[in-house]
Amino acid sequence: MTKRDYYEVLEVSKTADGTTIKKAYRKLAIKYHPDKNPGNKEAEEKFKEAAEAYEVLSDPQKRQRYDAYGHAGVQQDAHPGGWTMEDIMDHFGDVFGGGGSPFESFFGGGRRSRTGAQRGKHIRIKLALTLEEIGTGVVKKVKLKREATCSSCHGSGAKSSGDVATCSSCRGTGYVSQIRDTFLGRMQTNSTCPTCNGSGQIIRSTCTTCSGTGAELKEEVVTLEIPAGVEDGMQLSMRGQGHAGKKGGSAGDLIIEIVEKEHPLFKREDSDLFMELKINFAEAALGVKKTIPTLQSHANIKIPSGTQSGTMLRLKGKGLASLRGHSHGDLYVKVQVWTPTKLSHAERKLLEQLGEMEGFEPKKSREEKSFFERIKEHFT
Ligand SMILES: [Zn+2]
Ligand SMILES: [Zn+2]
Repeated sequence: MTKRDYYEVLEVSKTADGTTIKKAYRKLAIKYHPDKNPGNKEAEEKFKEAAEAYEVLSDPQKRQRYDAYGHAGVQQDAHPGGWTMEDIMDHFGDVFGGGGSPFESFFGGGRRSRTGAQRGKHIRIKLALTLEEIGTGVVKKVKLKREATCSSCHGSGAKSSGDVATCSSCRGTGYVSQIRDTFLGRMQTNSTCPTCNGSGQIIRSTCTTCSGTGAELKEEVVTLEIPAGVEDGMQLSMRGQGHAGKKGGSAGDLIIEIVEKEHPLFKREDSDLFMELKINFAEAALGVKKTIPTLQSHANIKIPSGTQSGTMLRLKGKGLASLRGHSHGDLYVKVQVWTPTKLSHAERKLLEQLGEMEGFEPKKSREEKSFFERIKEHFT
């Protein structure tokens, strides 16, 4: 299925400002909310489509990338497998001015409080990589302490199944209704049940393994597959690899922040690499063939005779692979002519001879000449 244009989805113009985009999303989210359209697959798809569009267009950086490159520009941020209802609740609570259950005030009782399900927390880690690893992509194993569902009580938090009772304050619904008289008339508001904190259950005797939390910390080894071309500060997320959810809620994500280690030889700019190569002035004057290191191997380069210090040579395709697409950056070699600081007797002799040669001095370039001539003209 081809993706629709995000602006089209939200029915806003390409120049719409943040407030307009937020309003447009809010309108669609209310219209297509599954609680208003139970069992309606089309509405659910529209609801998710709008959330995805809002996620990109409400973020200035993502919007800029989307404007420049279309869907491909924001693909790395997309959730593989699409949005779940919980993602949408987690991400866009602020649109509705609420917390974790943004729709509660609109539809009477959020999904969360009705089921008691809680999504697991995200785990954030930093992963330091060398440029070589970034160049090829890498598989890493990391140890994590992850909250898993308690194996003794299977997440209920109770010592035995007989220790779980339905909350009498809310009759197991997890929320309580209040009727209030306001200047707008009689209003019913639903809020989380204070007795059971929205779980709908009361636990008489808590599980000793997890002290009633329903979760236990487990050390686990996770395999991370890092694609080639990632950048410092980039965040990759692995769905469902975070802490376990509670009461049937889905697990959080594992969010990996990439840290690029400094390389002793190469500097990086996007997918291009830069290095310096020192040669002596005999080599610069006569020309020379050199073997230089590249990120994965080495390359032979020819430095032409008469090369000036500071000359930049470009080795096409010897940079990094770009994260998206199939292009490769280039390797730039900056040639620096080395000037000796200590001379042997023989070297000094030769250089003195060379220095006395007629015409062995810098030639003025055309620009310099005209510049000096202009000054001369000015003073005569
Ligand atoms: Zn337990
Ligand atoms: Zn209750």
